[in-house]
Amino acid sequence: MIELPEANTLARQINQHLAGKTVRSVVAGQSPHKFAWFNIDHASYPVFLVGNTLLSARNVGMFVEITLSDSFLLFHDGVNLRFHPEAGPIPARHQLLLNFSDGTSLSASVAMYGGLYCWRKSSTFEYTYYDTALSKPSPLTDAFDETYFREMLALESVQKLPLKAALATEQRIPGLGNGSLQDILWNAGFHPRRKTSTLTDDETGKLFSSVKGTLEVMTAQGGKSTEKDLFGQPGGYQVQMSAGSKGKPCPQCGSEILKEAYLGGSIYTCPTCQPI
Ligand SMILES: [Zn+2]
Repeated sequence: MIELPEANTLARQINQHLAGKTVRSVVAGQSPHKFAWFNIDHASYPVFLVGNTLLSARNVGMFVEITLSDSFLLFHDGVNLRFHPEAGPIPARHQLLLNFSDGTSLSASVAMYGGLYCWRKSSTFEYTYYDTALSKPSPLTDAFDETYFREMLALESVQKLPLKAALATEQRIPGLGNGSLQDILWNAGFHPRRKTSTLTDDETGKLFSSVKGTLEVMTAQGGKSTEKDLFGQPGGYQVQMSAGSKGKPCPQCGSEILKEAYLGGSIYTCPTCQPI
């Protein structure tokens, strides 16, 4: 899934390699997919996009937002974005394909589920998750400081939640999803089931440092190794706690890494480094 480190990496790569290109043709919804979400009918994508120049991209939490001359594109969750230079193969299955006037293309393919939205600059696009991500400070910015983090966790509605729910749901921290959460909590030495209200003052400080520090490193290194970038290459951040870690020794202490289902997703923990 695209989370903050991956969305940031994709946006940076789009700015570097696609800015200035003009859209020559567009194919939307070519491969039927039950969980590919579109906000307009397929035939409107070329109407909105052909002739546009791609100006820039940025991440808004876990979203990749692309600004073109007259329209916006927005991708999230399980959308694989790939750039295809002239000789590069375009995947057989895709839900959106932008062909540029220089012969290169950008494809968007949905894995399990994902959104591919488009709207004109003269109109607006309302989507709660996007609006929430836009309204909150990114953990990569100075506005997301320890005071802000402590205030967020101190809310009564958050205090009663386990750390997994407090940190990685409701877009409380834009772009922080279950994938990034695993290493954040392992680095800090907390179990995802640990109740937020049980954290001491010092522990809250430690958690803040890990949220910020881990996301910064993941982003600086081009995303997590479990995800792929615009060129299909895995991210440079070597994930410690993920599906591939189950049953392996904890890199810190050697204990066997456990996997369990919890709150709608798998968690990977070290029983020694992350006591409940
Ligand atoms: Zn350990």
